[in-house]
Amino acid sequence: MEALLYNRSGSPAPCDFCGTPISDLGLGFHDHIKTSEGCSAQYEAWLERIKQDHPEGD
Ligand SMILES: [Zn+2]
Repeated sequence: MEALLYNRSGSPAPCDFCGTPISDLGLGFHDHIKTSEGCSAQYEAWLERIKQDHPEGD
């Protein structure tokens, strides 16, 4: 399962919003989102944008 924390280049996967290397924190992405207020807000905004880009729910 540890491999899931790494992207294709083999470096620790950073948070898309703040750039924190999530695997260094020992957290999953969603755990990080839940515990980081700024990232949580940006994640919600990102979800809204995805929904608008894909109104069919695709
Ligand atoms: Zn973050």
